[in-house]
Amino acid sequence: QKFVYDFTEGNKDLKDLLGGKGANLAEMTNLGLPVPPGFTITTEACKVYLDGGAEPPQMRDEVTAHLQALEERMGKKLGQADNPLLVSVRSGAKFSMPGMMDTVLNIGLSDESVVGLVAQAGDERFAWDSYRRLIQMFGKTVLGVDGDLFEEALEEAKQAKGVTTDVDLDAADLKRLVEQFKAIVSKETGREFPQAPREQMDLAIRAVFDSWNGERAKLYRRQERIPGDLGTAVNICSMVFGNLGPDSGTGVAFTRDPASGHQGVYGDYLQNAQGEDVVAGIRNTMQLAELERIDKTSYDQLMQIMETLETHYRDLCDIEFTIERGKLWMLQTRVGKRTAGAAFRIATQLVDQGLIDEAEALQRVTGAQLAQLMFPRFDEKATTELLGRGIAASPGAAVGKAVFDSYTAVKWSRSGEKVILIRRETNPDDLNGMIAAEGILTSRGGKTSHAAVVARGMGKTCVCGAEELEVDTKRRRMTAPGGVVIEEGDVVSIDGSSGKVYLGEVPVVPSPVVEYFEGRMHAGADDADELVQAVHRIMAYADRMRRLRVRANADNAEDASRARRFGAQGIGLCRTEHMFLGERRELVERLILADTETERDEALGALLPLQKADFVELFEAMDGLPVTVRLLDPPLHEFLPDITELSVRVALAEARQEAHENDLRLLQAVHKLHEQNPMLGLRGVRLGLVIPGLFAMQVRAIAEAAAERLEAKGDPRAEIMIPLVGTVQELEIVREEAERVIADVEAATGADLKLPLGTMIELPRAALTAGQIAEAAEFFSFGTNDLTQTVWGFSRDDVEASFFTAYLEKGIFGVSPFETIDKDGVGSLVRAAAEAGRRTRPDLKLGVCGEHGGDPESVHFFHEVGLDYVSCSPFRIPVARLEAGRAAA
Ligand code: PEP
Ligand code: MG
Repeated sequence: QKFVYDFTEGNKDLKDLLGGKGANLAEMTNLGLPVPPGFTITTEACKVYLDGGAEPPQMRDEVTAHLQALEERMGKKLGQADNPLLVSVRSGAKFSMPGMMDTVLNIGLSDESVVGLVAQAGDERFAWDSYRRLIQMFGKTVLGVDGDLFEEALEEAKQAKGVTTDVDLDAADLKRLVEQFKAIVSKETGREFPQAPREQMDLAIRAVFDSWNGERAKLYRRQERIPGDLGTAVNICSMVFGNLGPDSGTGVAFTRDPASGHQGVYGDYLQNAQGEDVVAGIRNTMQLAELERIDKTSYDQLMQIMETLETHYRDLCDIEFTIERGKLWMLQTRVGKRTAGAAFRIATQLVDQGLIDEAEALQRVTGAQLAQLMFPRFDEKATTELLGRGIAASPGAAVGKAVFDSYTAVKWSRSGEKVILIRRETNPDDLNGMIAAEGILTSRGGKTSHAAVVARGMGKTCVCGAEELEVDTKRRRMTAPGGVVIEEGDVVSIDGSSGKVYLGEVPVVPSPVVEYFEGRMHAGADDADELVQAVHRIMAYADRMRRLRVRANADNAEDASRARRFGAQGIGLCRTEHMFLGERRELVERLILADTETERDEALGALLPLQKADFVELFEAMDGLPVTVRLLDPPLHEFLPDITELSVRVALAEARQEAHENDLRLLQAVHKLHEQNPMLGLRGVRLGLVIPGLFAMQVRAIAEAAAERLEAKGDPRAEIMIPLVGTVQELEIVREEAERVIADVEAATGADLKLPLGTMIELPRAALTAGQIAEAAEFFSFGTNDLTQTVWGFSRDDVEASFFTAYLEKGIFGVSPFETIDKDGVGSLVRAAAEAGRRTRPDLKLGVCGEHGGDPESVHFFHEVGLDYVSCSPFRIPVARLEAGRAAA
């Protein structure tokens, strides 16, 4: 096994082994781009180290060999006294984790070699500043010294000299500072700052390995659902310096605008600075376009390289580069993060450029991004006070109370407040606060600052670099140009799409994408913006590609019509219990309380026309498309008054000696129907079997409604679905009765009704005996809500609020099994039941109508196990269509 790869040995497809940064450095090296030479230690080496507490034995020898090769190539040795080679030691995991892990620059500097660097660079100040930076970075990240101690010493040095910026410190000041920094290290760690260059390098490598399990990194991984066992690679790269004077500098760039997708020159440049200064957003940068004026040769070369990269990767790339005395060096590239809107635009732009095909375009967007685009936005016409304007870093509309530190953000959000985290700039320590906040506002830093990059990754609204807003974190306040002061707790609104910051709460309006799906805005029409066009095209690709059909969970004509506008191909679940609420509850109450057959028939007779009218409306809204009507499912007590309330009412009436006949009867019924575990009690098909006439009434309503629609020359396609079946016998009994009722209606109306009857599969026993059940069912619809509840033994109404947080924190699962299908457990039952059902009845129609039907990851699973359709709530239909297309592409 090989643990170290030269940049010339890797390529972009080796991300598992070399991490994203290492794989892409190798790719750029092999493309002939100017990458400073170096090598990568693999994630495998990291895993061995993290498992056993020691590097694999042969790693050391491999590092030695690669270092020697590097030294020969560069014509200087690591830390050589008169002509030192300096290297950076950088982390780089498979998935980008911006700022979450460690990096150490300027490895190889020591009391001896700093003198060599003075000669090499011809710049005494630069050399001592580099040494100062090494001790500071190494002290903090490798040796664990409190970083503030160095900052304080630096601050004191400036104060003593009466200056305010680092640049005003000269070589002699920095030399003194180096002595102070070394003293801090020795005092805090009980050992001297290591002078041996190889020891520095080895310790730094180990620190990078260790940083994989740092608290920040772990939190970030949990957020982003990155597995915890991947490990990080370590990149050892010869140093190039952006801080060697005005003809040097460092920057970041995008091959396209990550917010709009437009082609052009996007990036930030910082003259006479090192890379970390840009990423951390410490100083305000200039726009990349200005580089053309400062150094046209490097600028032109950079533009050329960006084009090469974009054509090669066939996607938006982001880049970190450094210019050392007029020579351009590429330090990093990767396929860049982008906003949801830009993802759609870029995917269609690349199709137009002939770089990718439709199938690939579908892989460039996600259902989660589409869902994000369907969020409401701020009302532009609202007259609210504009406080200022910053850079639109991550889109969305966020409203909340101003807080100025992450601790408060977390505390307030835990107590249910919505907060906007306001900082001068953020750093990795702010991660918790950023997660807790509705949105993030900073006064410094560009589109590539920490706040912007991390917020975009989280899909969180962010405005950054709002320089006109003066943020004073110590006094917990922000001052706007007009002198308006925002104190902690004042409400502000931030618009991550325009960069605007408002005082107070701004009203929100629906997203243009929703307007488009609603049919109120047409792609191709004059007012359709680019985004809607792009969404329109991607949806068309998905619809052409997908095999899964998409239906809606809807139980009224309004939802059904919306679902249809959003692209639903039918209704997969009409929950009839929703038709028994409101004023009709009394009728159900009468049915439940009925003592005699006559009373019961009267109650059912009153419900029948109401049910029928509901179905007529629904079938009309869904004319020509299937409508799966599920017969009554929930426990009956849900239709009766609350037991405690009722008891109190009865007790009061008794005390006041008022009439309470009815309440008393009700109370008795409630007591009789009370169950310890209602979800496992008298519900679903069991109701149909125990309450005479109930299911027959519902079937009659469906049949009569269908007949009426046929009479009106409509095309009703009703399907009857029985809930909570556990055994085929239950279904057979219901089927017999249903067939009798349907025949009855056919005889009375002369209509020829085709009403398939099927069942939900939502109990483990149903799944396990699916082969038998299919004898009596023309279709299955997997009720993955109840199936998850019963397979895990998790009460679906309780667990998410009680102990799921603990389960998520302990990593028992990365996401609630009620949200994303548990493939190994619940999923394998679904797969087996689908197969068994089809063995019995090859034309058995299969669908799913649990919440999972609209969840992106689950949709892929249902595609894979061969279901015919997924059914989800109307607003999630576009997401399901898109993901079904992506699954098939
Ligand atoms: C299910 O159990 O997955 C289902 C769709 O039915 P309900 O959520 O109504 O119980
Ligand atoms: Mg159910």
